[in-house]
Amino acid sequence: MPKLDADVVVVGAGVAGLCCAAQLVAEGVSAAVVCETPEVGWALRSAQLGTRSKGFVQHPIFQPGLNGGSWFSAARIVNAPVSFHVSPPMHILNKATGARAELRAAPSASAILDVLAPLVPFPLDELRADLERVLNVALRMSWEDLAALQRTPLTHWVAEQGGDQTLTMIMCVLAANLTETTPQVAAEHVSVYGMMGMLRGLVSGEAFVTAPSPDPWEGLLVPLGRGLDAAGCPVRRGARVEQLIVEDGRAAGVALRGGDEVRGRAVALAVGNPRIPGLLGPLASEVAAPLDYANQLLGHDACTYSLLDKPVVPLQNMTMVADAAGSNLAYLFPMQAIAPDSTEEGRWLLAAQAQFSKEAYAEIGGHDGAVKHLLDLQEDMFPGFHDATVDRTEMTHKHHWLNPLTHGPKLPPQSSEVPGLYFAGDGSTPILGIGVEGAGQAGAIRARQIAADLRG
Ligand SMILES: Cc1cc2nc3c(=O)[nH]c(=O)nc-3n(C[C@H](O)[C@H](O)[C@H](O)COP(=O)(O)OP(=O)(O)OC[C@H]3O[C@@H](n4cnc5c(N)ncnc54)[C@H](O)[C@@H]3O)c2cc1C
Repeated sequence: MPKLDADVVVVGAGVAGLCCAAQLVAEGVSAAVVCETPEVGWALRSAQLGTRSKGFVQHPIFQPGLNGGSWFSAARIVNAPVSFHVSPPMHILNKATGARAELRAAPSASAILDVLAPLVPFPLDELRADLERVLNVALRMSWEDLAALQRTPLTHWVAEQGGDQTLTMIMCVLAANLTETTPQVAAEHVSVYGMMGMLRGLVSGEAFVTAPSPDPWEGLLVPLGRGLDAAGCPVRRGARVEQLIVEDGRAAGVALRGGDEVRGRAVALAVGNPRIPGLLGPLASEVAAPLDYANQLLGHDACTYSLLDKPVVPLQNMTMVADAAGSNLAYLFPMQAIAPDSTEEGRWLLAAQAQFSKEAYAEIGGHDGAVKHLLDLQEDMFPGFHDATVDRTEMTHKHHWLNPLTHGPKLPPQSSEVPGLYFAGDGSTPILGIGVEGAGQAGAIRARQIAADLRG
C-alpha cells in the first residue's frame, strides 16, 4: 500500500480549503493542502498599481456572532500574524436623485426600514406594519435555524407568513438588491437564508466588511498559509490536481499534473463548483444536479482599479450606486479611505465593481463592454476622473457566489458513492455565514465531520 502523505488531502487553497486544514490541525488530524497557484488565496488577490498601491474588492466578511467566525478561528489555530480594519459603514447613493443612506447597524425591522426607506422608489406606509412583522420573524431566529431554511424559497416562506403578493414583490426587490440580482431571479431562486442572511449580515450589523492588515496584497490567506506550514500542515504550492484517486471504491488521494500523487485516507475538495467536474469521473446525480443548477446562475463580475493623482473622488465610504428604481449600478471602493496602508501618499485609489448575469454580460459586450460601463460611470459621477488617472488595471471573473444564497440543490457534505470524498468549498452544504465567512465555515464544518468519521 502506498505511504500516506497525511490523513486528509485538502484540494484548493482558498478560504474554504485553508479553514478546513486549520480545523483539521485543531482536531489533531494530519492534513496536506494542494494549491495550484504560486501562492494561496489567488482568487482573493489584490491589484498592484503605481509603486505601492493595492486595490481589492473582495473584503473578508467577519461574523463574530459565529464563535468568532471561521477564518478568525483559523488564524488563532495556526497563530497567523494577520489583523484587519473594520471598514466604515457602507453608503448607498441613488445616482438619479442624489439621495444617500448610510448602512448603520440596524437590529430590528423598524430600524432596517428607516435606513432603507430613502432608497425605495415608492412609499412603504401601508405595507410597513406587515413588512416589519415578517422581517422580524427571521431576524429573531438563530443562525442555525435560519440556515435550516436554505432550501426554502423566499416567496413560499413569505406566503406562509401571511404575506400577500405586494409584500412578496417588495421582499424580492430587497433580496435582489442584497444579492446583486434582479427581482425575477430573487423570486425564482433566492432562499429565505439567502435573503435574510445577507440582510442580517450587511444591514443588521451581524457581519463586518474588513480590510486585512498589515499587507493588503498578502491579505488574509497568505499569513494563514504560512501558519499552516509552520503548524506541520504542508501547503504544496504550484501543484495542480488532475484527478481524484479511487482505490477499492474509496477516495485514496489525488494525482497531480506531472505525475506525482498525494495520498490520504480522505480527500476534501475545496475547489469551488466549476472545477469539480474535471477532477471526478462521470458525474453522479448528487454532483451533476447541483453543478447544472449552479451553471444556470453563473455570474460575471468586472472590476477597474484606477490610481489618481488628484482628489477628484469625494468618497470616504464603500458606496453602492443605485439607479432611479433602486437597482445596483456598481460598487465603488475609495481604497485610501477604507483600507489604511493600501495607497501611496499623494495618490487616490478607486476600485469599482459591477456584477452581471450571463445574459447581461453578453449584452453589454463582455469584458470590454463591462469595463467601459464602469469607466463611463466613474467619469460621469466624478468629472476629471479620466484626466486624473495615472495608472489603471482591470479584472473580470466568472463566479458562482450566488450559490449559497439560492434554494436549489447543493453539493452534499460527502459523496454517497465514493466513501472518503468530501465537498468542502463554496457551493457545498450545510451552510453558515455569508461570503468569505460562509466559504470558510463550509471548510471548518466539513473538517469536524471528517475528523469524527476518521476517529470512527
Ligand atoms: C469578484 C468577487 C468579489 C467578491 N467579494 C467578496 C467580498 O467582498 N466579501 C466576501 O465575503 N466575499 C466576496 N466574494 C466571495 C468570496 O470570494 C468567495 O465566497 C470565496 O472566495 C470562496 O472561497 P472558496 O475557498 O470556496 O473558493 P476559491 O476562493 O475559489 O478557492 C478555490 C481554490 O481552489 C483552487 N483549485 C481549483 N482547482 C484546483 C485544482 N485542480 N488543483 C488545485 N487547486 C485547485 C483554486 O486555484 C482556488 O484557489 C467575492 C467573490 C468574487 C468573485
